[in-house]
Amino acid sequence: MLANKTVLITGSTSGIGLGLARAFAQAGARVMLHGLGEPAAIEALRAEIAGTSGADVRFHEADLARPSAAATLVAATEAAFGGIDILINNAGAQHVAPVEDFPIAGWHTLQDIILNASFHAIRAALPGMKRRQWGRIINIASAHGLVASPFKSAYVAAKHGLIGLTKTVALEVAETGITCNAICPGYVLTPLVENQIASQAATHGLPRDRVIREVILAAQPTKRFVEIEEIAALAVFLAGDPARSITGAALAIDGGWTAR
Ligand code: NAD
Repeated sequence: MLANKTVLITGSTSGIGLGLARAFAQAGARVMLHGLGEPAAIEALRAEIAGTSGADVRFHEADLARPSAAATLVAATEAAFGGIDILINNAGAQHVAPVEDFPIAGWHTLQDIILNASFHAIRAALPGMKRRQWGRIINIASAHGLVASPFKSAYVAAKHGLIGLTKTVALEVAETGITCNAICPGYVLTPLVENQIASQAATHGLPRDRVIREVILAAQPTKRFVEIEEIAALAVFLAGDPARSITGAALAIDGGWTAR
């Protein structure tokens, strides 16, 4: 379905991004993996995805907390594969603290990884997409791009900003064969959420299953985690030609969270 397309997925060494990489490789795309992690473990993932899908899968490291890193990553992907057809801005991190105690460096790091790196990657990838008159930009935002929760000021602000960026880019490129959309997942059981479960269990003195149901999934009406494969299927659909009229959208996949 996506044969002869190249996808760059930031933050694809773990969690949702790794699931996206598996799904796009299965759909026939060439995949540039990216993220932080131990080199031998990342090479094992790369080889496994390439082996099971038959796709050309490569890896490029870049710390997106550094301002120039995203543009360098885009350039390295274009050099390796000859262009980028699909850009998925997925890398993310979380920090939970009241606003008045929020570490200033932590605020800036979350803006850099979630919002600024997406801007830099889009800015660098658009000229090639415009030349080819085809492109897909998919920003993995969050239900927290649409609604807030307390103690997540940096994350909520960055994800709201990412949806604003998504809409603006969609309007700017609307006549060029390029779409730009945001996917807004509810809670997904990944290392990012496992960390929150562990810290909430310690804070509230509750067992893991009660933290999941009463704290983490309190606002998610289905009371189950969104599956990584469900997000990946939506992203693969957005990358295909039948989705060419979907642009500037913030698509919730959140078990009803933002329907309230
Ligand atoms: P995760 O922690 O499993 O993966 C995060 C990825 O981002 C990893 O590959 C990591 O290496 C990469 N990354 C983090 N900091 C980086 C940096 N400075 N430079 C380069 N790469 C960096 O998390 P996840 O849950 O899979 O999250 C993926 C995306 O989905 C994030 O943007 C997150 O905000 C979003 N999201 C997650 C959930 C959830 O419930 N898990 C819900 C909504 C949105």
